[in-house]
Amino acid sequence: MNVDAYIQFLRDTPSMAMTIIFIFGAIVGSFLNVCIYRLPDEQKSVIKPASYCPMCLKPIVWYDNIPLISYLILRGKCRQCSAPISIRYVLVELATAGMFVLTFSYFGLTARAVFLLYLFCSLVVASVIDLKFKIIPDEITFYGMLVGLLFSFCAPQVQFEVDQRLAIADSILGLLCGGAIIYVLAVVGSYIFKKEAMGGGDIKLLAMIGAFVGVKYTVIAFLLSPYFAIIFALYYKFVKKEATIPYGPFLSMGAVAAIFYGDQIVVSIFGL
Ligand SMILES: [Zn+2]
Repeated sequence: MNVDAYIQFLRDTPSMAMTIIFIFGAIVGSFLNVCIYRLPDEQKSVIKPASYCPMCLKPIVWYDNIPLISYLILRGKCRQCSAPISIRYVLVELATAGMFVLTFSYFGLTARAVFLLYLFCSLVVASVIDLKFKIIPDEITFYGMLVGLLFSFCAPQVQFEVDQRLAIADSILGLLCGGAIIYVLAVVGSYIFKKEAMGGGDIKLLAMIGAFVGVKYTVIAFLLSPYFAIIFALYYKFVKKEATIPYGPFLSMGAVAAIFYGDQIVVSIFGL
């Protein structure tokens, strides 16, 4: 079966296509879990060695490493030492699989879908690491900016453009605008509150988002992010008694919402 015939087959059988995409997304999610575990530690490579249990350090055999399914079969415990496996692994796999299905059903089997999924995967990894350690590793954001710029240049249709120059211009402007918004906010915030309000990681994160989605959606993503943050901020302040919250996850949620609903939001507010 050649590639065109295969793609046609998937178009003709959407439920089959979505099942394959869901499984593929769960496998990618499983790799994102490895990145989340290993990226914050400079010493660890995301490629080698194969997966191992963080408690007993014994390697995990392939049939105990099947996304979503192995967790259920093992009932959330390591086969060797019975240490509990964090539910986070399953949530990341489920979220990634869901993002794959949503993105491909919204944008079809297109370059833009693949392009945005690279962004979404980066956002998942950055958000979970930010929640855990309150840092966003540069590996994620720098590679992301590079991929966003390069892809926009090589395949302008991912920015809804025909002209290469317009696509790369929107990508560069999005990057600069995203970085500048958080930078200004960080400077003003630290002046008013006399402590760090926004970190360098947040600056680079919105800059990366900008390189993928261009100026308009970057601004919308930023404006939507506080709505996602507010409940979490109250929980941190009154339940966990912590003054600062990691902001990466909310910029990420803002970006996803802007990509799928940004145009409707602009229409409903400005009636354009
Ligand atoms: Zn173990």
